[in-house]
Amino acid sequence: MSDDPGLVTFEDVGTPERDKPPFVRLPEPARLFAARAERFAALAPGHQLEAYLGFLAGLSRAQAALAGAIDAPAPPSLHELRFRAGNAMPVLPREELASDPAVSMAFDRLAALLTDIAMPDIARAALARAVAAEPEARQAMFAAVLTDAVPVEAVAEHIFAAAALQVVAARRSALIDPALPQPVADGVCPCCGGPPVASAVVADLHVEGVRYVQCSLCAVQWNHVRVKCVTCGSTKGIAYQEIEGIADTIKAETCDECRTYVKILNRRKAPELEPVADDVASLGLDLLVTEAGWRRAGVNPFLLGY
Ligand SMILES: [Zn+2]
Ligand SMILES: [Zn+2]
Repeated sequence: MSDDPGLVTFEDVGTPERDKPPFVRLPEPARLFAARAERFAALAPGHQLEAYLGFLAGLSRAQAALAGAIDAPAPPSLHELRFRAGNAMPVLPREELASDPAVSMAFDRLAALLTDIAMPDIARAALARAVAAEPEARQAMFAAVLTDAVPVEAVAEHIFAAAALQVVAARRSALIDPALPQPVADGVCPCCGGPPVASAVVADLHVEGVRYVQCSLCAVQWNHVRVKCVTCGSTKGIAYQEIEGIADTIKAETCDECRTYVKILNRRKAPELEPVADDVASLGLDLLVTEAGWRRAGVNPFLLGY
């Protein structure tokens, strides 16, 4: 419990409707990617992955610039959106993005924004290959990202494809009525149908200790109660793993029912935590938890090479 009289707990009987956490929180794309860039830059110095985190800071900065420069793809009709929401379907299915010309255009603009950013030669060569690819090959690359089927030998190209897709998907989701999306299934973004990257206990609502799961693709956040598996919805066999001696603000929430885990960040204790950046920087926790036999359920395109 907080001493702040303005805060109420989730369990309070008779919580007024206005104080209930909204089911969905939409992203503010330009701000989201700028904050992520700052977080990557802050995490980099002295980190084992210093060069990589520095590169991702530059990539996120380019994503922020891209988010401010492109138009979002035209949304489906309100009738279609309502139909999907009413039938427990994602309102803006991610599969539609693979063949959307807006994505291909965004990819070209992103590549141009990356011209002056420091990156390893191998990444630069992969980017050049992806830019030069035929339209069908490019569409296949987007489709691979959107179906979580990135070939291991072509991870570098797909990091850039995922970065462009994230911006277009976030721009698209940001425009809809936040009251529209309805629960689809455990571990599925109600907006685009994508898998989660991580979850966070948020600090900026007038309700204490509320957890949101963040979509790996469109960055929409959906409310998910605590001590409940993000993947299968089980409330039994949930445990929390952390690395001893490291800040306890990032934990892996493991589930013995489905043997998966999703990270949970405590932004009440550490507001600077950013789901995508801190997920990459806490790779050590993944090594520990996967070694102990749980499968990672969170998807993060920037972790594909690890
Ligand atoms: Zn989504
Ligand atoms: Zn589970």
